[in-house]
Amino acid sequence: MSREPLDQSRKLVTELPGPKAREMRERMETYVPKALSPSTPAFASRVEGGILEDVDGNRLIDLGAGIAVTTVGASHPKVVEAVKQQVEDFTHTCFMVTPYDSYTQLAQRLDELVPISGQTRSVLLNSGAEAVENAVKIARAYTGKQAIAAFDHAYHGRTTLTMGLTAKNMPYKDSFGPFASELYRVPGSYPFRDGLSGEEAAARTISSLESQIGANNLAAVIMEPIQGEGGFIVPAEGFLAKVVEWCKANDVLFIADEVQTGFVRTGTWFASETEGIEPDLITLAKGIANGMPLSAVTGRAEVMDAVHPGGLGGTYGGNPVAVAAGLAAIEVMEEENLTAKATRIGEIITDHFQQVQQDDPRVADIRGRGAMMAVELVDPETKAPLAELVNQIAVEARKQGVITLTAGTYGNVLRFLPPVVIGEDLLKEGLSVITDILAETRSDQSVSVDA
Ligand SMILES: *Cc1c(COP(=O)(O)O)cnc(C)c1O
Repeated sequence: MSREPLDQSRKLVTELPGPKAREMRERMETYVPKALSPSTPAFASRVEGGILEDVDGNRLIDLGAGIAVTTVGASHPKVVEAVKQQVEDFTHTCFMVTPYDSYTQLAQRLDELVPISGQTRSVLLNSGAEAVENAVKIARAYTGKQAIAAFDHAYHGRTTLTMGLTAKNMPYKDSFGPFASELYRVPGSYPFRDGLSGEEAAARTISSLESQIGANNLAAVIMEPIQGEGGFIVPAEGFLAKVVEWCKANDVLFIADEVQTGFVRTGTWFASETEGIEPDLITLAKGIANGMPLSAVTGRAEVMDAVHPGGLGGTYGGNPVAVAAGLAAIEVMEEENLTAKATRIGEIITDHFQQVQQDDPRVADIRGRGAMMAVELVDPETKAPLAELVNQIAVEARKQGVITLTAGTYGNVLRFLPPVVIGEDLLKEGLSVITDILAETRSDQSVSVDA
């Protein structure tokens, strides 16, 4: 039985949070630690396309997709149907005990889709951080070396190993040390702030790798092709290609962390394609199964096979229900031509902020690709980050029914990760709500600008 589709329009019938949401938040604060602190002043009741309906009957525009996850919309009928069918057949066997063919089918789809030539193999896991941990294990087993290099502004997760790879202290690492050993951090490429060309930035990176680690100790370099939590930093043209070239020449593996950039998000299946690079290993999660917990490490067969039998796995990794959702989500991305749709979203967001930028120089950098776009807000004179302003805009936008995310090492980046199936008018309305709030802060700039 199909339900009434969820009206694709923003509508507030109460203030946010509404009375039911207030009551739920009160109970939440009793039973759930404040370490979680959800940002949206609403509790979800139904989500579809570009709209989230809350428990008070309000309809919010979703510009976050649960952090780049629900690319095809959070209740796409094809995904729902695939999940229902699988649940009726079986929910779990543990792949290491009794295999099922859908796991292999997904591994085969990944082999067809990822920008790695030749045979690949995939191991399926539960979360992005778990994928990164496994990529590190595989790289160490293959190379017989231990050191792993990550970049300034990197985000790779919150587990003990991945916290050590993540750059930003607050809120991800503060008070949680000590971190794992043999993890190193090197400078990357942040054109807006370092002003370096791709070639210059790569030379700086390689110099650090050689002088502070040494290729003979280095198992792998890991990088997000567009740095996500760090502020949607797109490296200068040619940077990644140069770093990958150095890795190949020095028997160092290159791991592309495409957990956020993967699965049509940036207008191609994977962001590595746009950079013209061929990673040895790719980590995948977020968009892979449209919200069912699933992740993967896909890599060159020779590298993946370096691990001894039984060396990888876990109870739930590649859970059949999540795999069914993944296979269905990939089908929808193909059928609905979502790479093109993501590119179009990038154009709309860029156009919108270029207009605003003409008379608001605080909108200093508009960057990203496809449906992964961000704007960095700074003091036009000093380039000082306007983190307080960004937070103020996000809080107010959410109250007005637009789910808005922030990012950046300095907290001064508004980021946009809508479900790729969002309607264009809805997207434009969401952006206008945000830039109207931005414009208002201009008229009372004296009170709103950071100290
Ligand atoms: C979100 C993210 C992770 C961590 O994924 P989880 O599923 O939250 O563990 C790792 N790397 C990147 C690039 C991410 O964006």
